[in-house]
Amino acid sequence: MSLLNVHDLKKHFPINQGMFSRQTETVKAVDDVSLSVEEGETLGLVGESGCGKSTLGRCIIRLIEPSGGKVFYDGADITRMTGPEMRNMRRKIQMIFQDPYASLNPRMRIGDIIGEGLTIHNLAKGNDRKARVFELLDRVGLGEEHYSRYPHEFSGGQRQRIGVARALAVDAKFIIADEAVSALDVSIQAQVLNLIKDLQQEFGLTYLFISHDLRVVEHVSDRVAVMYLGKIVEMAPSNKIYKEGVHPYTRALLSAVPVPDPSRKSERIVLEGDVPSPINPPSGCSFHPRCPFAEKICSEREPALVEDGDHSVACHLFKPATG
Ligand code: SF4
Repeated sequence: MSLLNVHDLKKHFPINQGMFSRQTETVKAVDDVSLSVEEGETLGLVGESGCGKSTLGRCIIRLIEPSGGKVFYDGADITRMTGPEMRNMRRKIQMIFQDPYASLNPRMRIGDIIGEGLTIHNLAKGNDRKARVFELLDRVGLGEEHYSRYPHEFSGGQRQRIGVARALAVDAKFIIADEAVSALDVSIQAQVLNLIKDLQQEFGLTYLFISHDLRVVEHVSDRVAVMYLGKIVEMAPSNKIYKEGVHPYTRALLSAVPVPDPSRKSERIVLEGDVPSPINPPSGCSFHPRCPFAEKICSEREPALVEDGDHSVACHLFKPATG
């Protein structure tokens, strides 16, 4: 059984207007998303900014309440959990954010930031807690001398290491990394990505790795899901997506990434127009106004996400080899 199962997850934001604040429209930020993540696996989640991937990550851990659907972690239904159950669940599922500085209390010393979870969850106190924090600092490439320093004394890469240490402190098993390295320089990105991969091996961690950067996602992911306007449009093992991605949106995203591998097609697919407004998405396939392959049916009927073995695609032109 998968460690995480998401079924038909939705997050619809009402838009209220007028004197009586009547709901006039709805933004479907996440619309009927289903996916699963195996234990020890990394699922990459990619798409342009505003496609709903961060909202999906937050809905999974209920930092944003979903409007519908179910999320199961190790068989337990997260969407039905009460406050205390959810607090316990947030020990197992931790989130690492793009801007670690915003999530680190500037008035707290690093030792206390990392050790806070140990205290809250009654995992260690006193000297045991301090020893555990020293261990964690060492494991993420920081030193004991950093224990008493404040967040502003660290670089972006070091702050991200602190975020990782904080997740490890509470023995998290599943980590949602939301644009975790997007704000870092490329050389620092590589170091933090290598750390994330090493820790996965060492602690058997499972990741949902959210990023708009396909290069970064390729580096860490076993499978990749591509999102467009609140829906998953393609999902497959990482090598399939990067070598044989078939959805026109996936192909357009990939064609914009410079690749040193000459075996890959390098023809650039330029997307027409901007990402449509999620308030009033296009009819049928919501990608049709920008799709260079759109046919009549594309504006009339929404394509279902069709499975072909380990590869799922939502496009009318996709013809599964099996079935
Ligand atoms: Fe393009 Fe049509 Fe496929 Fe949508 S369904 S991606 S518009 S070809």
